[in-house]
Amino acid sequence: MSAKIIDGKKVAKLTREEVRQDVEDWVKDGNRAPFLQVVLVGTNPASDVYVGAKTRACKEVGIQTDTKRLPDTISAKELKSTIHKLNNDDSVDGILVQLPLPNHLSAHDVIEAIDYRKDVDGFHPMNVGRLTVGEPSFRSCTPAGIMELFKHYSIPSKSKHAVIVGASNIVGRPISILLNKEEGEGKATTTVCHKYTKDLTRHTISADILVVAAGQPNLIKGEMVKEGCVVVDVGINRVADETKEKGYTLVGDCHFESVKEKASWITPVPGGVGPMTVAMLMKNTLLAAKKSIYPE
Ligand code: NAD
Repeated sequence: MSAKIIDGKKVAKLTREEVRQDVEDWVKDGNRAPFLQVVLVGTNPASDVYVGAKTRACKEVGIQTDTKRLPDTISAKELKSTIHKLNNDDSVDGILVQLPLPNHLSAHDVIEAIDYRKDVDGFHPMNVGRLTVGEPSFRSCTPAGIMELFKHYSIPSKSKHAVIVGASNIVGRPISILLNKEEGEGKATTTVCHKYTKDLTRHTISADILVVAAGQPNLIKGEMVKEGCVVVDVGINRVADETKEKGYTLVGDCHFESVKEKASWITPVPGGVGPMTVAMLMKNTLLAAKKSIYPE
């Protein structure tokens, strides 16, 4: 079997087009355009690339945006004070602090400083907690994007065994919660693996749906995957490649060539989950502007 490709680029484009139309209608109704404030601390080339992609997407869908660039010497107190000002600024709908932060800053503290009603990344404990108990919340963009891909391709998860490799707060844990939900979407039985999991293959081989978000290039090989499995590769890893102008190439956490021979569906890297993350951020920013999740 050779897997069918889950084309995240295509679905993200459709999602952005939907958001663009909704933003246009929202503004036609006399509202100001949604505004996303990005906060970028220090100089991290990968962060620059991600912020660039988010800014371009905002322009495309009619969301106003600005990037506040702060030095990597900024103290936690100064950064939190900047965030508090943005929390109190009624012209700001969404606040996104680009991660990772320099080592002296705690991402947890900084995220908690964001007003949860403006937390369009869906990382604030209030949003994570509400997601866990099934209340409306801003959903972390990558897991939300994965669920959107399943919906678009009518890939069922009900009663399936979904194995998630990686247990981070931004991908692994929230996708396990969404897939495991008994109400609405999800309805899968989930297993969450992490770096302390013994015999990873014992788990991955039993997966009907395998979501891999470990940040380990080519961790999952064809022999670790069951025939017909749906594979979502979240990993984005830079590996040195002198044949490329940039000096690196992007690979996922799955060995694409061998895994695609076993899987029924697979996301490529790049062009799979990545574009969906940005598209869902656009959706969340519009929801924040409309105060749809947290009405006043
Ligand atoms: P993280 O480093 O915060 O977490 C990694 C998780 O994987 C941890 O739970 C760790 O225990 C687990 N892990 C590591 N090695 C493992 C192994 N050998 N076996 C089993 N589990 C293992 O990472 P993250 O922020 O969740 O990101 C994971 C990957 O996804 C990275 O490559 C990142 O760049 C990528 N990512 C992509 C998107 C996107 O939009 N496509 C968004 C976020 C993250």
